[in-house]
Amino acid sequence: MTSATAHLFDKEDTSPLGVLRSVYGYDSFREGQQDVIEHVTNGGDALVLFPTGRGKSLCYQVPALCREGTAIIVSPLIALMHDQVQALKERGIAAEYLNSNLSEEEAADVKRRLRAGELKMIYMAPERLMMDPTLQMLSGVNVSLLAVDESHCIASMGHDFRPEYRQLSRLSEVFPGVPRLALTATADPRTRQDILDQLRLGDARVFTSSFDRSNISYEIVERTEAKSQLLTFLSKHKGESGIVYCSSRKRVEETSAWLVKQGFKSLPYHAGMDQAVRAKNQDAFLKQEGLCLVATVAFGMGVDKPDVRYVAHMDLPGSVEAYYQETGRAGRDGLPSEAWMAYGMQDVIFRRGLIDKQENTSEQQKRIERGKLNALVGICETASCRRQAILSHFGEAHPGDCGNCDSCLNPVEMYDGTEIAIKALAAVYRTGERFGTTHVIDVLVGKENEKTRKFGHVNLPVFGAGKDLKPAQWQPIFRQLLANGYIFADHDAYGAIKLDESARRVFKKEVVVNFRKERVGAIAKPRRAERRELDLAEEDRPLFEALRSKRTGLANRANLAPYMVLPDATLAQLARDRPDSMAAMERISGFGSAKLDRYGQIFLDAIESFGSVEDNAMTM
Ligand code: ADP
Ligand code: ZN
Repeated sequence: MTSATAHLFDKEDTSPLGVLRSVYGYDSFREGQQDVIEHVTNGGDALVLFPTGRGKSLCYQVPALCREGTAIIVSPLIALMHDQVQALKERGIAAEYLNSNLSEEEAADVKRRLRAGELKMIYMAPERLMMDPTLQMLSGVNVSLLAVDESHCIASMGHDFRPEYRQLSRLSEVFPGVPRLALTATADPRTRQDILDQLRLGDARVFTSSFDRSNISYEIVERTEAKSQLLTFLSKHKGESGIVYCSSRKRVEETSAWLVKQGFKSLPYHAGMDQAVRAKNQDAFLKQEGLCLVATVAFGMGVDKPDVRYVAHMDLPGSVEAYYQETGRAGRDGLPSEAWMAYGMQDVIFRRGLIDKQENTSEQQKRIERGKLNALVGICETASCRRQAILSHFGEAHPGDCGNCDSCLNPVEMYDGTEIAIKALAAVYRTGERFGTTHVIDVLVGKENEKTRKFGHVNLPVFGAGKDLKPAQWQPIFRQLLANGYIFADHDAYGAIKLDESARRVFKKEVVVNFRKERVGAIAKPRRAERRELDLAEEDRPLFEALRSKRTGLANRANLAPYMVLPDATLAQLARDRPDSMAAMERISGFGSAKLDRYGQIFLDAIESFGSVEDNAMTM
C-alpha cells in the first residue's frame, strides 16, 4: 500500500462495510447484500435467491474476507472459476482454484499455500472437492465457510442439472459447524426446495429479492425483415458488447458473417464449431470492446461479463425461463441495457413442432412444455407491461407501467377483431385446411396466381373477401389467431393450417377476438444519446474514450478482460470528476486499495496529460 492510500484504507477494518470499501472500493451494499453478508459472517447458513447481476458473488466473498480461515467455493465450470479468481487477484485477494487447468507444479503450490493457511478463497468443482484426497488435505485447513454457487445445478428437474452436485449433500457431515451458503438465480419453488433438501440446509435462512432487472428494457417486435430490423436495433449499440441469439448453427454463421459485412465487429459461437475456435471467440468477447457475439443457446452459462449492453433474440426461445435467463446476461453491472426480440408465427409453429415430435416423452410432459411455450407467446402478444407479465410468470407481483418496456413506452391499442377473425378462419375452412398462411392470405386478398387458379379458389366466396387489408396486415392476424389457439399448424400435413375446436365459438360470435393494432415502423422510443447510461456530458466523452483505450492497453498487456481492470462506471466517474491527486482518486467508486496502488497513478497521469492536450487545443 502506498502512503497516499494508507490513511483511508485501514486494513484492520474487517467489518463487511470496511471490506466493501477498502477491497472493492464500492460505497454501499446493493439491495439485499448486507443482510446475507452479516448473517453468514456471523456463522449462519443461507440460501440466496437473487437474480443475475444483483451481486451474489460479494455475498460469499465479503464474509470470506471478514472471517478467519479459507472459504471453499464450489463452482460448476472451469471458465467461471478462472474469471472469478482472476478478478479477485486483481483486487489483491489471495484466491486460487484447483482444477485440471493447473499443471502438477501449480497444483502442488496451491495445495501448499492452502495448507499453510495463506489463501482466503479456494474455488473447486464439486467432484474435486468431494474426492477423498481433497477432503483429507482439507481436514488440516481452517475452513471459514462453504459457498455453493449455481446451486440450482443440484436440482434434477432443472435444465442445468449436474449429477456431481449431488455429492455435496455430504458437506454437512464432512464439515460440521462450518457455515454453508447456496446461491442461485433460479427462482422457482421446486428448485428452491430441492436445494434446501439436497444440501441439508433445513435451518438456513432464505434470502430472496425481487427478480426484476429494472435496468434492462424489454422490446418484442413482429419479425418482418429480420436482418434490417436487427441492423436498426444494433445501430444504437455500435461499439458496445452484446449477444445475438439465433436458433440454429447455420443462422448463427450466416448472421455473424453478414454483420461483419455491415461493418460490425462480430464472431459466431455454437456447439458445432471446433472447440479451440469456440474458446477463442468466447475469449475475444470477454477481452475486446464492442464485440457482437452471434450464438446459439450453447453460449452463456459461466460467462460473467458485466458490461453486456444488449441481448437480441432473432427467434423465440423455448420458455419464459430460458428467455429470462438469456436476456438476464445483459447489464449485470446495473447500467441500462436492452433486451430485444423479433418474433413471428413461424417461431410458434416451429417450437410447437419440436414439442409434438418428441418421441419417448409422455403426453403429460408435452402438455407441460406446451404450457411453458404458451406462457412465453402470451408475453410476446400482450399489450400491457412486459415486465409485469414476465414477473407474474415467476409469481412476483409488479404494478405495471414500468416505463422501460415497449408496451409502456409506446402503448399498443387492442381492437375488437371478431369480424376479421371470422373472415380469416372462413378462408382456412373453405380452402380445405390444407394450406399454409401464404396461400390462405392470397385467397383473402383475391390474388390470382397459378395456385389459386389451380385449386379453383378464385371461385370461392371468400376469394377477395379480405382485400381491404394488405397481405402484410393479414400476417399478424394469423399470428395472433395461432398464438390464441384458434388455429394450429398440422405437422403431419406439412404444416397446413387447421381450425381448432375453439374456432367454432368465434364463428358463432360467442367470444370476442381482440387483436393488437400493430405498430407501423420502428418503436418511437426517444433516441438514446450515446453512452447516456453512464451519465456522461458531451464534453466528458473524449476523456472517457481516452481512458477506455488506456484501459484496453493495460488489460491486453495483462491478458485480462477490460472490466477486470476497472469497470465502465469507474471510468465515467473519472471523466466527470477529473481527480487531480491520489487523495481525490480515492473517492472514485470501484478502485479498492489494490487497484488504486496499481492503476491510480497511471489514470491520474492520463487525465492530466489529456487536460494539457485540451488546453493546447483551446489556445490554438
Ligand atoms: P451475480 O452473481 O448476482 O450475477 P455478480 O456478483 O457477478 O452478480 O455482480 C455483478 C456486478 O455487480 C459485478 O460487476 C460486481 O462487481 C458488481 N457489484 C456487486 N455488488 C456491488 C456493490 N455493492 N456496489 C457496486 N457494484 C457491485
Ligand atoms: Zn412496462
